[in-house]
Amino acid sequence: MVVGAGTAGAGAALQLARKGLRVILLDRRGPEAGGAQWQNGVLDRHFEQAGIEPPAGDERGGANLLTHIVGPDGTRAVSITSPTVGADMALLGRRLRRLAAEAGVEIVDHAEIRSVVVERGRVTSVDVRVNPSGPGVPAQRILRAALFVDASGRGGVLRRHSPALDPWCASVSRSELCSAADVHFEISDPDGARRFLARHGARPGETVTAIGVSGGYSTRAVAIDADLGRVGVLVGCVANGRYSTGPKMVEDFVRSEPWVGPRLHGGFGVIPLRRPYARFTAPGLALVGDAACQVFPAHGSGIGIGLIAGRMLADAVGGTTDPGDEHVVWRYQAAFQHEFGGLLVASDIFRRLGTELGEEGVAALVRSGLMTETATEGGLDQRWPEPPASEVLALAGRLVRAPSLARRMLPRLARGQVAIGVGSRHPDTVDVAALERWDRGVQRLLGPLPA
Ligand SMILES: Cc1cc2nc3c(=O)[nH]c(=O)nc-3n(C[C@H](O)[C@H](O)[C@H](O)COP(=O)(O)OP(=O)(O)OC[C@H]3O[C@@H](n4cnc5c(N)ncnc54)[C@H](O)[C@@H]3O)c2cc1C
Repeated sequence: MVVGAGTAGAGAALQLARKGLRVILLDRRGPEAGGAQWQNGVLDRHFEQAGIEPPAGDERGGANLLTHIVGPDGTRAVSITSPTVGADMALLGRRLRRLAAEAGVEIVDHAEIRSVVVERGRVTSVDVRVNPSGPGVPAQRILRAALFVDASGRGGVLRRHSPALDPWCASVSRSELCSAADVHFEISDPDGARRFLARHGARPGETVTAIGVSGGYSTRAVAIDADLGRVGVLVGCVANGRYSTGPKMVEDFVRSEPWVGPRLHGGFGVIPLRRPYARFTAPGLALVGDAACQVFPAHGSGIGIGLIAGRMLADAVGGTTDPGDEHVVWRYQAAFQHEFGGLLVASDIFRRLGTELGEEGVAALVRSGLMTETATEGGLDQRWPEPPASEVLALAGRLVRAPSLARRMLPRLARGQVAIGVGSRHPDTVDVAALERWDRGVQRLLGPLPA
């Protein structure tokens, strides 16, 4: 049973059914409201790795768009062709559900988990209330399953009921959450939009992304259509109350730019910005997507990695006699940590560095020239960027000229470099003591959480 029909849950249900398992997929909301409902930047290669066709047709928005990155004071950092592709999340969600249904998945909407039964440490059944037509008399169903998959997003409705997972999966603190929004508007004054673009040396069809606009870790990407008809505003900042919020950042932008016309569509939400939990499987239970914090922390992207996790889970449990066996689901966790664990810890270190630098530090970073095209492209491509040999000397010179920035950045970057290799040392087989040692090592690399 997969709980949560967002992209991670619908993807996992599809992959499990492809392996021949009998799968039921539940969501507490309806087909038009579950999961992300806005535009997301995704990577084709993530879809390919997950065994799912990349977005195409109406589902596929702009690709390879020229993006101008500017600091909080408007200073240009770099201009790069973004490796991401825009995806209409509502259409992607619908496609994943359709594919899952075609593969034999039973989908039950408007289903609320009432209680979870744990027997000898293993989640064995849930009590579900199903209310298919809104208000009315709900049906009650007790559902047993060999494997439960918690794909219910950052709240993780099942994980807290597992005695094995509870100590490993603390609720994500507000300093590790991103308040994000993606809203699209008509442009009521094309000349105003043209002037906005010109201010940043940009042209219609390009994106202007300002970083450090509300705290060191924050972004505001303004994407203006080539025909000056529409604009998309994608924003995010740390959600601990010290900064703005996603919806407020959009509101402030609209107020300051009178050429922005009526709102067309959009949405907002909160994204976990921490590395994945060290342990996200337990007897009878596996977490995927935001429920496991399978997100690239440096910019809060979770779609691609969540889809790949579903594939890895299905690869680990397919063909086994008991897909919920602790040793079987651990194989999924180990495979995921081996491939992504180190990268996501390194990305978390980088995300913490951004918060620590603050708005002034980010402005200084942009002015120093240390934010290179290679580094920015690598980040957007969800890789740990390695500067080419030809850039190393120039970067060293820039670091010498910005000593206070260098003092703050170098230790973090060195730890990030070490972190890349840490995922491969996650224990292969069930060994909680070894996992605790591994996690302590990861904590040391991360250092304290910035305020
Ligand atoms: C504004 C914004 C912009 C973003 N931009 C990007 C981007 O550009 N690129 C990118 O890769 N990522 C982006 N993200 C992050 C990305 O959207 C998430 O990482 C991703 O949607 C997580 O998918 P998920 O399936 O794990 O969780 P969700 O999408 O949260 O889905 C969880 C599902 O579980 C259901 N559910 C919850 N509780 C229960 C329950 N008790 N019982 C039954 N069902 C339940 C919910 O209804 C929902 O359908 C963005 C997020 C936001 C908010």
